[in-house]
Amino acid sequence: MSEIESVRKGKGTIFLRKEVCKGCSFCIDFCPTHCLEFSIEFNQKGYHFPLLARPLDCTGCDLCGLYCPDFAIFGVKIKDLEKRRTSPEPLIPAKG
Ligand code: SF4
Ligand code: SF4
Repeated sequence: MSEIESVRKGKGTIFLRKEVCKGCSFCIDFCPTHCLEFSIEFNQKGYHFPLLARPLDCTGCDLCGLYCPDFAIFGVKIKDLEKRRTSPEPLIPAKG
């Protein structure tokens, strides 16, 4: 891998429960790096849900998760992924 490629590697990613999403777009509107976009697909409730359209731009800051009223999405830093996977806390928090 060249140095430029390693610099461009994404630092974060998202987890999404697409069937919980209500398509409000808060996550898309408040993402500081504008890396989310609505899918062209609908979930079972008939809403478009967000996709990580530009994964290299995701920092894992979790602002999407903070703004989501339904706990349908959250962001995580790649460096913390393994820690989160092995944590007793669920990777995706249960809906309040
Ligand atoms: S974790 Fe941050 S950068 Fe990534 S999609 Fe969510 S708000 Fe955007
Ligand atoms: S903020 Fe939550 S409910 Fe709203 S579009 Fe994003 S994932 Fe769906």
